[in-house]
Amino acid sequence: MSKNLTKRSEDYSKWYNELVIKADLAEMSGVRGCMVIKPYGYAIWEKMQSELDRMFKETGHENAYFPIFIPKSYFSKEASHVDGFAKECAVVTHYRLKNAEDGSGIVVDEDAKLEEELIVRPTSETIIWDTYRKWVQSYRDLPILVNQWANVVRWEMRTRLFLRTAEFLWQEGHTAHATKKEAITEAEQMQNVYANFAENFMAMPVIKGTKTETERFAGALETYTIEALMQDGKALQAGTSHFLGQNFAKAFDVKFTSKEGKLEHVWATSWGVSTRLMGALVMTHSDDKGLVLPPNLAPIQVVIVPIYKGEEQLQMISEKANQIMNELRIKGISVKFDNRDTHKPGWKFAEYELKGVPLRIAMGPRDMENGTVELARRDTLTKEIVKQEELVTTIESLLIEIQQSLYNKAKDYRDQHITKVDTFEEFKSVLNDKGGFISAHWDGTAETENKIKDLTKATIRCIPIDSIEEEGICVFSGKPSSKRVLFAKAY
Ligand code: AMP
Repeated sequence: MSKNLTKRSEDYSKWYNELVIKADLAEMSGVRGCMVIKPYGYAIWEKMQSELDRMFKETGHENAYFPIFIPKSYFSKEASHVDGFAKECAVVTHYRLKNAEDGSGIVVDEDAKLEEELIVRPTSETIIWDTYRKWVQSYRDLPILVNQWANVVRWEMRTRLFLRTAEFLWQEGHTAHATKKEAITEAEQMQNVYANFAENFMAMPVIKGTKTETERFAGALETYTIEALMQDGKALQAGTSHFLGQNFAKAFDVKFTSKEGKLEHVWATSWGVSTRLMGALVMTHSDDKGLVLPPNLAPIQVVIVPIYKGEEQLQMISEKANQIMNELRIKGISVKFDNRDTHKPGWKFAEYELKGVPLRIAMGPRDMENGTVELARRDTLTKEIVKQEELVTTIESLLIEIQQSLYNKAKDYRDQHITKVDTFEEFKSVLNDKGGFISAHWDGTAETENKIKDLTKATIRCIPIDSIEEEGICVFSGKPSSKRVLFAKAY
């Protein structure tokens, strides 16, 4: 397959789809809207998982696992929750197949109809809160700080690899607390954990804020979000953390006896990030030559490509390469020696560029004589000659520098794409010509929000946490407003 990608400037969306496939991250499967995550893509997801999992545990959470099926009756107990998810649920109605009597193949056995249909979980609040009723009696049983790594199904109509799939992998935290204050603190804490992960591991700057009522999670009183900006000027919701109030505790009758001996409903949060983060990672840093991966999430941080003629030269280079690999591994750096004789060095260079490996070492016979290697950076596509004895320290510091430089570059782009506007004309022209986030006054009504969405496709991504109080008038209705919010077209 040709390695040439469509250029971002020609067709960003095509570039993304081609890149995900050519870099061996994932592909669509035979099942509508569901993807196959390939080993290289899964290796990146595993790195994301392991860092997030560590962060969850450091903040006191434990992992557990709940069923993939939710009885329909559970689902309808919280009214706004079922309203929000009803449109995209997969439903199990039967539990058996049989051979058709006319020999035409396999059919559903109508005698095996379930008494109560089961919903394939789109999210697990209902089954988890049904369980928490059994776990909670007294204030001593609280808080419950549980996370689950799982797959969920939302019957999405327009799917894109990683960004929006019908089945996706995620983690969902579900916590139970004795007080409102504690639950809000938890929801805010997890928003911070997500922001920290996005910035320090994905090298992706995010804006922390809250969602408007229209954009809030179905069943939540407040949704805390982290919003990122992709290179085409579209925003992407990268993670959400919800304060659920006592809605699920009331729906599932989860009560506890307080210290004062009073019977009270429990307070809840839930929070999740999904394989969508893979799409965010690709779209934040990658270029027309392929993936650009931040060292903190790259499955291979350094690749060594030997340049040789004949067995003898390969032998000599391999010895040195093995020594370098050992030294790098001792430092916790992941390194691969690609000594395949089935591909030429030039092919390998293009391959690792496509796959976004942060650093490439090339070693030939002349390097062996001179005690040097050629070291190439994927992010800047620059090369330098490095002395072998300085290689390990050079690589250690370069990996840190690349991580930081990717973040800075993405942040510069993001910051240049937050535009303040004060009229609706300006709003429309910035949205069309420049894209990015638009910081504008809004009158606080769903009516205005929906009208703007209908007219421009831009939605309110968030009310930023650091948005300052400021007298203004709504960019659309002219009514008074005290704060700017961020609008954007979004994935
Ligand atoms: P929610 O439960 O709706 O707050 O979503 C939790 C996380 O999953 C958010 O970060 C969403 O951006 C992400 N997400 C929602 N729907 C999908 C989907 N169809 N594919 C991938 N990720 C999704």
